[in-house]
Amino acid sequence: MGTEQARELIAKAGRIVVLSGAGISTDSGIPDFRGPDGLWTKNPDAQRMSNLREYQRDPALRAQTWLARRVHPAWTAEPNAAHLALVRLERGGRLAAIVTQNIDRLHQRAGSSRVIELHGTIFDTVCLSCAEVRPMREALERVAAGEVDPPCLRCGGILKSATVSFGQALDRAVLDEARAVVESADLLMAVGSSLTVQPAAGLVGLAARAGAVVVLCNASPTPYDGMASAVVRGSLSVVLPELV
Ligand code: NAD
Repeated sequence: MGTEQARELIAKAGRIVVLSGAGISTDSGIPDFRGPDGLWTKNPDAQRMSNLREYQRDPALRAQTWLARRVHPAWTAEPNAAHLALVRLERGGRLAAIVTQNIDRLHQRAGSSRVIELHGTIFDTVCLSCAEVRPMREALERVAAGEVDPPCLRCGGILKSATVSFGQALDRAVLDEARAVVESADLLMAVGSSLTVQPAAGLVGLAARAGAVVVLCNASPTPYDGMASAVVRGSLSVVLPELV
């Protein structure tokens, strides 16, 4: 549905911005949250790990989260055909930037050069007290060596992945950069996102108000489908190479 319109709109666009979500990485083996095989769909308790207040107040939950981080699929995942299609679009000179909600760095690993990470990255840790950022690898080595909840080496505070949890504000400068780039687009393509997390999802409305054409590619409906000039269903590793 909508593939032909989407292809025409993309062919005509001069300055495309992509907003990506977890659905672009499911074909790389990283489950999303809310899709049919999503982490939260299958295990509602997993939501607590992504909630800042729960994480701060519950040491047992932190210990469980560190074990999950040790085996996170992001450490071994490879970019798929959808990530690579966006690299080709950038090399063709028409993709201005990717604003991603993903924390897996697969866009950068694929070769995309302008990626705005709205929700941070799992490849670093941050101290919730002193804000020091260090490589995740270091903390995982401490967990492997027997620490169940490794504290900050500088101040002893609680360490977390440098991702934005629920209840935690986005980095202001990153959000401003994302808004500016979205407002400069003549076509915004939202891919692999349920568009239910704010303020990320609101970037679709912002683009439309600034005059951009909106194209949505997602396996399931989103609250923004009615705003789109074309809606494409199907798996992104098939759909995106066809569209670009
Ligand atoms: P989401 O789980 O809310 O939605 C993902 C959407 O992608 C769903 O609507 C699903 O139907 C669709 N989808 C799944 N696989 C698809 C495929 N192969 N082709 C097309 N569509 C597909 O994800 P979201 O909107 O990105 O929000 C979730 C939050 O979770 C984000 O804030 C993100 O930071 C975080 N998250 C990130 C990752 C990652 O980095 N890969 C993984 C899980 C969650």
